Amino acid sequence: MRSMVAGALALMMAAAAPGVAAPAVAPAAATPFRLGALRLVALRDASNPVPNDGSVFGKDQGPAAVAGVLKAAGAATDTIALSVDCLLVTLPGRVVLIDTGLGPKAGGALLASLAVAGVRPGAVTDVLITHSHFDHVGGLLAADGTPAFPNATIRMSAPEWAFMQSQDRGKAIAAAIRDKVQPFAPGAQLMPGIRAVALPGHTPGHSGYEIASGASRLIDIGDSAHSAIVSLAEPDWTITYDTDSAAGKAQRRAILTRLAASHEPVFAPHFPFPGVGTVVAKGDGFAWKPGLP
Ligand SMILES: [Zn+2]
Repeated sequence: MRSMVAGALALMMAAAAPGVAAPAVAPAAATPFRLGALRLVALRDASNPVPNDGSVFGKDQGPAAVAGVLKAAGAATDTIALSVDCLLVTLPGRVVLIDTGLGPKAGGALLASLAVAGVRPGAVTDVLITHSHFDHVGGLLAADGTPAFPNATIRMSAPEWAFMQSQDRGKAIAAAIRDKVQPFAPGAQLMPGIRAVALPGHTPGHSGYEIASGASRLIDIGDSAHSAIVSLAEPDWTITYDTDSAAGKAQRRAILTRLAASHEPVFAPHFPFPGVGTVVAKGDGFAWKPGLP
């Protein structure tokens, strides 16, 4: 069973997407910040440089168009630099982890980053999953294939749990965590202070999470946007990572429009670490303004 899980993980990594460089090991890092009365911590897991070869970003536009957007932002034009990060939320009586990164077998640094934050895996009470892609669920398993957070309830939307179990890539992890999973209805209030936000498109049950304390709010948008530069400047361009391209584009523009109007603090798992900032309107699209709330 363990070797099956390891084999499936290796397969998932190899089959990530055509042209995608293997995610790279990044140093452990934990950035704490406050949201109202709550303590949150951004946790680094890995870096994921994606080649600008037309296979992932701007698949319908071509590398020259993507390079133009990168250049205008002062970024390198041969690679789209993505981070892989998770978010920890400390609530009264609960330690909540949102997403789990690649997992130790694939070089993910989440557990080391958690240690930097002073949190033992056994102290995590709830793991919330935005969606079941390998860079978000790989860390549900420890290096030995057993659940990495032995005392945690694992929560994801009911359509995402169904999707995960239907995918060859997701089946092995799903089998190992099955008795810890509590699916929820899209948009459900999960606990005092955390509400699921239905953001289907990237995957069928893709979910953001809104964290609230008093009048303060922050939303973890999951993979509604991948690049802080390209996905925001050109939200209507095709990205191979979206399961449903049209739904992904529509949902991306809708959530970015909402966030640019509300100025609500955002956590985005693939934006430059620590992945916290706000979305602002810019021309026909949007731009990222990094900064803690
Ligand atoms: Zn992702």
